[in-house]
Amino acid sequence: MANGQIKTDVILIGAGIMSATLGSLLKELAPDWEITVFERRSSAGEESSNEWNNAGTGHSALCELNYTVEKPDGSMDISKAIKVNEEYQVSKQFWSYLVNSKLIRNPRDFIMPVPHMSFVQGAKDVAFLKKRFEALSSNPLFQGMEYSDDPAKLMEWIPLMMKDRTVSGPIAATRIDSGTDVNFGALTRILFDHLKSKGVDMKFNQHVQDVKRTSDDRWELKVRNIENGTVTRHTAKFVFIGGGEGAFICCRNPAFLKVKGSADSQ
Ligand SMILES: Cc1cc2nc3c(=O)[nH]c(=O)nc-3n(C[C@H](O)[C@H](O)[C@H](O)COP(=O)(O)OP(=O)(O)OC[C@H]3O[C@@H](n4cnc5c(N)ncnc54)[C@H](O)[C@@H]3O)c2cc1C
Repeated sequence: MANGQIKTDVILIGAGIMSATLGSLLKELAPDWEITVFERRSSAGEESSNEWNNAGTGHSALCELNYTVEKPDGSMDISKAIKVNEEYQVSKQFWSYLVNSKLIRNPRDFIMPVPHMSFVQGAKDVAFLKKRFEALSSNPLFQGMEYSDDPAKLMEWIPLMMKDRTVSGPIAATRIDSGTDVNFGALTRILFDHLKSKGVDMKFNQHVQDVKRTSDDRWELKVRNIENGTVTRHTAKFVFIGGGEGAFICCRNPAFLKVKGSADSQ
């Protein structure tokens, strides 16, 4: 059954951390805008953002080795590590703003300090880690990073990993105390609770099946109620697909790809 169109300013598809974050930013910047969230599950933060479904590391390139690449000339490219770390600083600034504005009551409900460590073994990886450490530690974003290839020091840093380990070749680790552990599931729920209190319309058990451009330059969504099968149509000036790439077939719609392409290039 298709009903008449229901209009709103912004539609967020998916109730994960991405929609929660964008919704919170929008509510601060444009409090009068009407926002509707469509989520196919029965509550917020049940998929990737749920605490049981991700590792909870506050990604800031402190321990993720893939953000630094050794170039053919042997030098270490740290540009991606710097970009990721800077982006994470912005996230922390936003969360600090939400705490200072009392929109989040207790930061310990979702973020904890935890040292970030990288452990490697074998001469090649030890050489890589040392070079990575030397390149990063001179940058203020990575201040305080330590490197050690001394098993006694590593025993102090990572006793569970070192206990009963037979060290037969080179091993090394880096450690930095400014790392964080983030409960993205809790943060998602906190942000959506706040958004609900600000009048954001949270619609659960609603599967967005299609998105298309209308002749008056709005977006129209076809939404199926999972519980009773009814289909409704909703239009909005702006749509954010926070449901993960490939979440639904309409992502192949050329009109959507045009918009997505311009966002990606920024
Ligand atoms: C194993 C694993 C480990 C990870 N570890 C880390 C980590 O340590 N640190 C880190 O920063 N990140 C980590 N991530 C990544 C992080 O979890 C995700 O980037 C983040 O949670 C994505 O948030 P999201 O809101 O885009 O997606 P989600 O939380 O998945 O939310 C998307 C929502 O959209 C809904 N949805 C999808 N399609 C539709 C539709 N058609 N209609 C209605 N609703 C729809 C889904 O039900 C879901 O609730 C990890 C991810 C995984 C899988």
